[in-house]
Amino acid sequence: MTILIVGSIALDTIETPVGKVVEALGGAAVYSAVSARFFSPVKIIGVVGEDFPETYLKILTQQNIDLKGLVKLPGKTFRWEGKYLEDFNQRETIKTELNVFEKFKPELNDDHKTTEYIFLANIHPELQMAVLKQVHSPKLIVCDTMNLWIKTARRELEELVKKVDILMLNDEEARLFTGKSQLAQAGRVLLEKGLSAVVIKRGEHGATVFHKEGIFFAPAYPLEEVKDPTGAGDSFAGGFIGYLAKTGKKDFPTLKRAAIYGSVLASFTVQEFSLKRLLEIKAQDIRERFKLFKSLVSF
Ligand code: AMP
Repeated sequence: MTILIVGSIALDTIETPVGKVVEALGGAAVYSAVSARFFSPVKIIGVVGEDFPETYLKILTQQNIDLKGLVKLPGKTFRWEGKYLEDFNQRETIKTELNVFEKFKPELNDDHKTTEYIFLANIHPELQMAVLKQVHSPKLIVCDTMNLWIKTARRELEELVKKVDILMLNDEEARLFTGKSQLAQAGRVLLEKGLSAVVIKRGEHGATVFHKEGIFFAPAYPLEEVKDPTGAGDSFAGGFIGYLAKTGKKDFPTLKRAAIYGSVLASFTVQEFSLKRLLEIKAQDIRERFKLFKSLVSF
């Protein structure tokens, strides 16, 4: 089953305790698409500016990602700049420049409109909704967001959440969105909004899936060396929806396996800056790390 992804396509400038990259390929749609395509075909809806390097476009086409929904507008590409503190768990956003995303009005072609798996990766909820309104009969809609939109576009986000099946967000965002300090409570409150599942991501502490049948915990892989956590959440989402689209199922046991595949993809992403590691790995690497995860949690 094909997955349609809308979200940021970015030039990222990132500083971590072990290095720095300037205007590297990034963005929520990019990390999630490159992760999801290990499982299922992926189409992107998004926008770049005139300054977006051809080499980055080539990287995406080489990954067999369908770019018919990627438009180039006059102006500059979305840019994000972030800095990680000593323990890699805290991130400071230095700059977010929406640039061409401010003028972007997504238009889906007939092929996009009939896609059954939709991932609304992080971008303004209005744009996520604009995509959602054009798809005919989606089988599963997964949505990610972030603190910026919870603070500045809460009304739009609340409207969107009513229409999605699974919401993903990190712990800080879940607390901000619900006003609940305990994650178990935040998970329950979000489920009560009508979602079939909620995934709360907690960086190196893994991710928790809240579902009416129970709660599942997927650990993060205990890596000794992390270089750049950027895109971990988006890679998790890509592995997660990629696996769901591949199996065509969305019951709780399948969601649990999907969360482990999400953690597998995230664990590769953080090993290098930008998309370097994700672009190197093969299906076999994913299978092997999935087995390692199994041994981590079975007793
Ligand atoms: P993650 O580390 O998974 O939270 O995602 C990092 C990616 O999100 C980076 O590649 C950024 O370009 C992108 N990003 C950061 N801020 C925003 C934003 N406000 N809207 C959309 N994408 C963003």
